[in-house]
Amino acid sequence: MSYNLDLEPISLPGLELKRPFLISGPCSAETEEQTLATAKELSKHGYKLFRAGIWKPRTRPGAFEGVGTLGLPWLKRVKEETGMFVCVEVANTNHVYEALKFGVDVLWIGARTTANPFAVQEIADALKGIDIPVLIKNPVNPDIELWIGAIERINQAGIKKIGAIHRGFSSFDDPKYRNSPHWQIPIELRRRIPNMPIINDPSHISGKRELLKEVSQEAMDLNFDGLIVESHINPEKAWSDAAQQLTPDALKDMIDSIVLRKSKIVDVPRVTLDNLRTEIDTLDNKLLDLLKERMKISEAIGKYKLKNNITILQTRRYDEILTKRKATAIEKGLNPDFVIDIYESIHEESIHCQNELMNKELKKKKQ
Ligand code: PEP
Ligand code: MN
Repeated sequence: MSYNLDLEPISLPGLELKRPFLISGPCSAETEEQTLATAKELSKHGYKLFRAGIWKPRTRPGAFEGVGTLGLPWLKRVKEETGMFVCVEVANTNHVYEALKFGVDVLWIGARTTANPFAVQEIADALKGIDIPVLIKNPVNPDIELWIGAIERINQAGIKKIGAIHRGFSSFDDPKYRNSPHWQIPIELRRRIPNMPIINDPSHISGKRELLKEVSQEAMDLNFDGLIVESHINPEKAWSDAAQQLTPDALKDMIDSIVLRKSKIVDVPRVTLDNLRTEIDTLDNKLLDLLKERMKISEAIGKYKLKNNITILQTRRYDEILTKRKATAIEKGLNPDFVIDIYESIHEESIHCQNELMNKELKKKKQ
């Protein structure tokens, strides 16, 4: 799949966004004092990009929905008094006009908005003819096409400075994260659109301070271009997302503790790595041969089912495979969840192939 995107590196007057860059500030601008105090502390540490939500998409009515346009002059003061660049979330035409009127430097599109192509198109239309960086969060659901669709809509409006923000995906059964990271999705996004920066949002993935470091480190090890982390002058008292915000000082400690590894293989011996990669290539070929062989047998089983008029899905057998493979995985020291995922996928493909076989036969009979 190829995407015809016309992108250019994100830059701001006098500031080139080099990996790893940091955007930080409160989840919400609450008061002028809180906004200014947080920005000043961040600026003291040398951070240049300030975030604050003023229109907050909340799950339920009655929760703090942001101060609205009232907060824009506060952000203007942040710019004037600290020299920081300011970033704001926009979700409709009016937000775009208001933010631009007050000199906001970077816009971002929130996860709930990305999931709605009507809203994204409305924002894209409002942005026609404007040159401003736009960061697009992943949609709440793990759908890479929806994410890319939003990126394309904004790009087609003529916006070239585009970045993606990975903030994790809603899940009803993830005990660890507020939003499951599904790292494979931003990795796939990078593969499909290699020249677009991807920023990680450990705050909304973690949902709690204690996890921020671990998630940020993983993002840096996966070669993300930057981080957007929520910070607040008094996190415990925050009006939204209190559990996941850090004081600017704690943020600095966290950021400084991240180990930055080289993103390119230079100045280290390549031979060992090349040899190991050759071994992986050989094993992958063997794996694919085995899969091919397994599919052939599954096809033979399909023919047997067809001949004897038996349903494709045999729940007891499927259950037996999952239970046995899980036990073997544990015995061999493999992650059982990983092995189950593989078998679910293999089983799905087997069913698909057997289904095709039966449909073909049905068509033949009709003719
Ligand atoms: C936010 O950044 O505060 C926010 C509302 O994020 P998301 O759209 O990722 O939920
Ligand atoms: Mn938030």
